[in-house]
Amino acid sequence: MIGVDEALERIKQHAKPRASQMIRAADALGSVLATDIKSDIDSPPHDKALMDGYAVVASDIKSGVELSILEEVTAGDVPTLPVVSGTATRIMTGAPLPDGADAVVMVERTELVDSDETTVRINADKADLGQNIMPRGESVRTGDVVLLAGRLIRPIEMGVLAECGATEVSTYPKPSVAILSTGNELVAPETRPQAGQIRNSNGPMLEALVQRTGSKAVHLGVGRDERDELERLVRRGLEEDVLVLSGGVSAGVLDLVPEVLAANGVEQVFHKVHLKPGKPVWFGIKKDSRGDRLVFGLPGNPVASLVCFELFVRPALASLAGQAFGSIERSTARLATTHSPYSDRPTYFPARLFELDGQLQVEPLAWKGSADLRTLADANCLALFPPSDSAFAPGDAIEVYLL
Ligand code: AMP
Ligand code: MG
Repeated sequence: MIGVDEALERIKQHAKPRASQMIRAADALGSVLATDIKSDIDSPPHDKALMDGYAVVASDIKSGVELSILEEVTAGDVPTLPVVSGTATRIMTGAPLPDGADAVVMVERTELVDSDETTVRINADKADLGQNIMPRGESVRTGDVVLLAGRLIRPIEMGVLAECGATEVSTYPKPSVAILSTGNELVAPETRPQAGQIRNSNGPMLEALVQRTGSKAVHLGVGRDERDELERLVRRGLEEDVLVLSGGVSAGVLDLVPEVLAANGVEQVFHKVHLKPGKPVWFGIKKDSRGDRLVFGLPGNPVASLVCFELFVRPALASLAGQAFGSIERSTARLATTHSPYSDRPTYFPARLFELDGQLQVEPLAWKGSADLRTLADANCLALFPPSDSAFAPGDAIEVYLL
């Protein structure tokens, strides 16, 4: 049986970004840039005032000096008169600086001398050259690369794209992910389960996980453990970039998922990984001219499904979307209590991470196993316990995966 690292290596080989496409910048939030972005203008586009006040000749300024006011320029206006020694232009934040001015004195350091506002007195000892002015192009020059290919577009990047005139951008398409829950026992959340039935918790959880990655979730509902029905749903799921199934990959008589996938041209890359929970996890690909379809068969138990999504599906979705093939955020913490899982497999254990005296501590929760989703809901991390036949002691360094 392969280990987690080997499984990730194999997934990575098949998770390549799809061909890039031009989209409107307005629709680009959450996408990854496929090309560098250059600015079509200088920013700021003119020397601009950073304060409301007076544009002056710096060498004029000493306490009590009086300057005659030429005009008033607000943001959006353009000055019409050059400032020369003995004069000043009243200027507002963001407005272009008049020719000849090389400093702005903030309004709080000035007072009007006369009621018709023709003369201003300066109450400052001096002005530094360039004070309260942002020179043209100080932030961005025309032709500068402002964002590199590979950059995830967050709200800040949306602002930069707008500033630099990039209204159409080349991005990697976000993957579409079909989600199919399998099992005769599954009923919808609004149904009270009858004898032998349980509610489908994986479906909503996996859909939410997919949506949180920024990918498009395609809901395929519940498939019965029955060949024809599963085949029909699998064929539908293979129209998307990724198909994520839950259930039906273990060794039970009705665990039909691997054979149904094989019958539909999906090649197995691995089945079973040395971890807990999640050992039965299945991964395969369907060759396709548009880019290989990836298929993940997650174990039915909800905690196993969650762990396998975080470990295996998440990095694949990131890579398809043009981001790094990265795991969820990890850290190292000190074990807060004694812990004795005694497993021969690496165990991803629901736990709580907290800070005590400036040190990260992790406390495993009273988890009842892979069907116990409720306890997982109280966790904020998974603590990774390596195989061990002895207990872990308080203070041991433990790797944690943040949820
Ligand atoms: P399986 O992997 O199909 O053998 O399922 C393993 C266990 O997970 C069984 O107890 C199932 O009832 C349970 N299970 C399977 N699918 C789901 C689901 N969608 N939601 C909640 N539990 C499930
Ligand atoms: Mg099943």
